[in-house]
Amino acid sequence: MKRFEKKVVIVTGAASGIGRAAATRFADEGATVVLVDREEDALQAVLGELTGNGHEAVAVDVRDEPAVTALVDRIAETHGGIDVVCNNAGIAGGDYAPVTENDLQNWRDIVDVNLFGTMHFTRAAGRHMREAGAGAIVNTASVAGVRSGAGGNAYSASKAAVINLTQTSACDLGQYNVRVNAVCPGLIKTGMTKPVFDYAEANDKAHKLGTRCELRRFGRPEEIAAAITFLASDDASYITGQFLPVDGGNTASLNMPG
Ligand code: NAD
Repeated sequence: MKRFEKKVVIVTGAASGIGRAAATRFADEGATVVLVDREEDALQAVLGELTGNGHEAVAVDVRDEPAVTALVDRIAETHGGIDVVCNNAGIAGGDYAPVTENDLQNWRDIVDVNLFGTMHFTRAAGRHMREAGAGAIVNTASVAGVRSGAGGNAYSASKAAVINLTQTSACDLGQYNVRVNAVCPGLIKTGMTKPVFDYAEANDKAHKLGTRCELRRFGRPEEIAAAITFLASDDASYITGQFLPVDGGNTASLNMPG
């Protein structure tokens, strides 16, 4: 499949995990990909792995609104537009304290990256897409944004807000033929979840990882990338304002196995 030939795609958090897999899939399907992350060396390594030509890697912190807007404007000018933004950069923070004990700085950091980072790219790219009368934005939320128990409360609240931002952005931009959707991954083996996997392996609990979903296994970044590229493609041309759990059935049942 070459669903993204002649399309310009921005992927944030592209240096690792789900973002790297999404960037790889977009490139394999013919897109010109702009890789964005704050980890410059890792970003360059991903750039070197991509098939096709014309891709670029830009070290930007998604919290930096002026830098994000300048980057988006430059990409739109250089390439004559932006077809897809995949808002995927995120942090988990590792704070599982009850709400009464939250570290407020940790809360602000998580919301800054996960929510404001997503909003900055949506805001800047949405203006160009509105002008062009076409575009697709796919946000990486989480099952943690759908219900509790899958992350700390700052992370969960930030991802619930990303889902709501997805819906409100879809309402703002739908009349301009700009679609906005989200994926909600379950447990995926990436840099973010390495501490979870390390802990489980060190404590002989690796066999339990992923059992809290109906498919009884954790997911792979490529399985999230498949959903992201579907929602970004014309195959999803009548889908907007939706969030798609890609979680092995984790959110399908209240009776979690395992
Ligand atoms: P990851 O840590 O492998 O990748 C996240 C990337 O985002 C990293 O390359 C990191 O450098 C980048 N990043 C973080 N803060 C940034 C910032 N301020 N500016 C620019 N880049 C920044 O983790 P991942 O699992 O691939 O996470 C990707 C997305 O998927 C995140 O939004 C995460 O919340 C979401 N998610 C992951 C899981 C999972 O189980 N791994 C589950 C649900 C949702």
